Amino acid sequence: MHFLGMLAFSLSMPMGYDPTITFLSLLIAICSSAFALWIVCRERLPWSRLGVGAVIMGLGVAAMHYTGMAAMRMEPGIRYVPSLFVLSIVIAITASGAALWMTFRLRQRADVTKRLRAGAAVLMGGAIAGMHYTGMAAARFPKGSVCMAANTGLSSRWMPAMVIIFSLAVLSIALLTSMLDFRAALLKSALKSAHEELRFLAMHDSLTKLPNRSLLEDRLDQEIANAKRSEKPFFVLFVDLDGFKSINDAFGHQIGDGLLVEAAKRLRSTVRARDTVARIGGDEFVLLVDARESADAATLADKLLTAIGMPYVIHGHACQVSASVGIAVYSREIEREALMKQADAAMYHAKALGRNAYCFYEASMNEDAQAQLQLFHDLRAAIGREELVLYYQPKFDAQSGIMLGVEALIRWKHPVRGLLSPAEFIPLAERIGLIIQIGQWTVREACRQLSAWRASGYTGWTVAVNLSAIQFNHLGLSELVKHSLESNHLDPGYLVLEITESTAMRDPETSLKILHSLREIGVKISIDDFGTGYSSLLYLKKLPAGELKIDRGFLHDLSPGSEDAAIISAIIALGRTLNLEIVAEGVETEVQQSLLTRLGCTSLQGFRLGRPMPPDELIYAFTHGSFFQDLPTPDPHHVPKLVAQVHGRDEPQ
Ligand code: C2E
Ligand code: MG
Ligand code: MG
Repeated sequence: MHFLGMLAFSLSMPMGYDPTITFLSLLIAICSSAFALWIVCRERLPWSRLGVGAVIMGLGVAAMHYTGMAAMRMEPGIRYVPSLFVLSIVIAITASGAALWMTFRLRQRADVTKRLRAGAAVLMGGAIAGMHYTGMAAARFPKGSVCMAANTGLSSRWMPAMVIIFSLAVLSIALLTSMLDFRAALLKSALKSAHEELRFLAMHDSLTKLPNRSLLEDRLDQEIANAKRSEKPFFVLFVDLDGFKSINDAFGHQIGDGLLVEAAKRLRSTVRARDTVARIGGDEFVLLVDARESADAATLADKLLTAIGMPYVIHGHACQVSASVGIAVYSREIEREALMKQADAAMYHAKALGRNAYCFYEASMNEDAQAQLQLFHDLRAAIGREELVLYYQPKFDAQSGIMLGVEALIRWKHPVRGLLSPAEFIPLAERIGLIIQIGQWTVREACRQLSAWRASGYTGWTVAVNLSAIQFNHLGLSELVKHSLESNHLDPGYLVLEITESTAMRDPETSLKILHSLREIGVKISIDDFGTGYSSLLYLKKLPAGELKIDRGFLHDLSPGSEDAAIISAIIALGRTLNLEIVAEGVETEVQQSLLTRLGCTSLQGFRLGRPMPPDELIYAFTHGSFFQDLPTPDPHHVPKLVAQVHGRDEPQ
């Protein structure tokens, strides 16, 4: 600006500029600009610093101007009018102060408009030009002055070209830098949002968008720190969905995922915004809740159970689940891990209570966990020590009361804890992978026992063996069955394999293949616990099964005209259409027995007719007729068959 201004200025004599002094004025300009930029790029700009900055920069600008003037090397020297000279310096300082302040403010504010920037530029340009022309107005050139730099220095002819080249160079460098700066800013913001997204992903569950285990652990640590400081308790609620697996198996993962997302929403909307709801795996959620006392936590758990239990419609499929909730309260000196374990143990207790329930942690639950561990070690040894035994429960023809066969039910004669039922160790065996070995033993032992009975003359009975889902899907199953039958010289028709409805429906296509391979061997297939899973009628029709066993849950409140009676009638009608035998298990009362017979069940099984018992007791009860003591007198024309059976009939029923 200064040198352009100097071009507009002309004296009636040849003019030029001393290169050294010109360069010095340029150096002063650069230094004061650098100083100005440094000042406005600081974090803060207090008034004192602004004042000092304005004076230094203003003096710098004035020094640049008057040095530029000195580059003309006038002889005699230029004289300046003192008042205008001082005014020009005051203008320079004021303009510098305003410029510094505005630049600093513009840098700090995000909402600077283009107009504001342009205004600031005009103000600053005006102030600098004002300083220049005031300075020029102050200059007096005495008569007869000569410009000593006219011949040796930069001539006014070259000046425009120099100024243009220099200005263009400065402008292009500025443009380039600001473009690079802009690109860098773009890149930085893209990086920042990518980083934020990554952070979110690392801390949240991708399906439900809830915090995941690692974020939960963070929050739990925070809560514990808070609770230590404020002495206010908080609660950890461990929520596990009941029956989620069977829905996932029956309807597929898409529906399962949809259900989880919906359940997560319901949990989230039941608690307050500041409480944490995290998903830590499959169908497991953990809530951190500020509640004053246990009663509040219990009320909340109740609300959660109600919310989760409402019917769902996922992609057009109606389904329903319940939840089991374990509650642990923070107490002094407890670590994060221990607190989680307590909530987890309490949740298992809630499940054991019959699901759709909540349970507070109690110290005795830890002992249960210890006991589980002990059981785990014992079970490994149990097979070798021959502690596993099979009990047999008789199964009867509903109409005639003829005994058709037995169901083998496993028991564990635990050296310390006594006789254990399958519910106490089969799930454990499944978890630790022992189920295959146990299952193999069961099939072999049941076949061996049946063969022994046949050798003693009880030839009409079938034996049913329960298969766990893992065993059912195990590749060696067909071989095992074939081998067990052959080595005991048994006709395959005497062996029934029971799989539960949910096992059969877990992966229907694969199940069909396995079942067909078993049917080819000639064994009979029975669908156990029918009515508790989610059967697709389409697959049920294709299943090569011989019988359905109605789950004993339907028998509890069975009475004529009850809802359960209606369900059983429907299952029987279904079974007839599909040509299946219908077995009712869990028959305990006379009312149940007669109603089930009337409704059309083909066979019956239950404590009323015969409990599961060791093989020799079974034979004793059978030969002494003690199964039947409570049964109504059998229909006379069935009696000969009953007698015939004791002496051996070769047809399997
Ligand atoms: P399940 O196959 O449905 O067996 C019927 C269960 O009902 C048996 O329980 C039996 O004792 C019980 N029960 C029979 N009649 C009555 C009655 O009138 N009232 C009541 N309340 N209960 C009755 P258990 O022996 O405890 O077996 C439970 C489950 O364990 C079985 O259910 C079966 O799924 C499984 N299981 C049993 N043995 C084996 C086995 O060798 N291998 C496998 N994988 N699972 C087995
Ligand atoms: Mg069974
Ligand atoms: Mg059953």
